[in-house]
Amino acid sequence: MNLLEFLQAPLPFLVLSTLLGAIAGSFLSMLVYRLPLIMRQQWHAECCQLLSTPEEKADNTLSLSLPRSFCPHCRHPLRLIDNIPITGYLLNGGKCHFCASPIGWRYISVELLGIAIAVIAALHWGPSLHALAAMLFGWILIALLFIDLEHQLLPDPLTLSLLWSGLLLNQSTALFTSPSNALWGTVAGYLILWLIYHLHKLLTGREGMGHGDFKLLAALGAWCGATLLPQIILLASLSALAIALPLLLIQRIRSKSRDNTSVTTTAIPFGPYLALGGWLSLLYGEVINSLLIPGLTG
Ligand SMILES: [Zn+2]
Repeated sequence: MNLLEFLQAPLPFLVLSTLLGAIAGSFLSMLVYRLPLIMRQQWHAECCQLLSTPEEKADNTLSLSLPRSFCPHCRHPLRLIDNIPITGYLLNGGKCHFCASPIGWRYISVELLGIAIAVIAALHWGPSLHALAAMLFGWILIALLFIDLEHQLLPDPLTLSLLWSGLLLNQSTALFTSPSNALWGTVAGYLILWLIYHLHKLLTGREGMGHGDFKLLAALGAWCGATLLPQIILLASLSALAIALPLLLIQRIRSKSRDNTSVTTTAIPFGPYLALGGWLSLLYGEVINSLLIPGLTG
């Protein structure tokens, strides 16, 4: 038995997937922190160029690879041991080794979710290209989920990578759905939210969602196919109602009790709920569809 055959056995594949998940989780944790900052850096430089104003001396040297990982509070470079997924967090008791500032819950959550995605995909599909592709899908969704929660932003480099990779995989191998279903899923995914956005703007004069949501649903359509789009939107809407609405109500009550005259309104990012709907549909899409529409599968 050679190494490749050994890794294709269920248990070694599960162990390998867990390790991959830990490495991906650590990378995603860095990506979620740095990508919005890098994009802001670029927008700032473009604005200065457009307005012909001298660019302010700012920290514009950040990239995905440089400088090496550092504490966002004291900016001290991390030790090698601090970069080990999960272990680094636990060894330091959830605090920076140098300044003792608490490490945000986001870091450990992203790392744990990175592993969870890999383990779920490995158990669901077994040693296969399906499992590896689903891991990639889930990891990109994790990055989008956390960036949208924190910054209300769905970066193009992530939504478009997801869209093109889904289209390519389904066009070349029909991995999760047929090539035509994937293509129509991409087109319909974009158009459905684009239409809702413009209808809402026409009726209220306000923007109801960001353009990133159109691209994210197009990407989910590319992976899952047009037939699963209604289900993704339903799951996203139900989870948004179940999770975000109570939080919003609590927030409104609190702000009202602080100041009787003003109530602050907070926009709810829809990306995290689309990501959740997309992930559930990729795994259990046919089962959920047969539960929602019993006659669909006979
Ligand atoms: Zn520190």
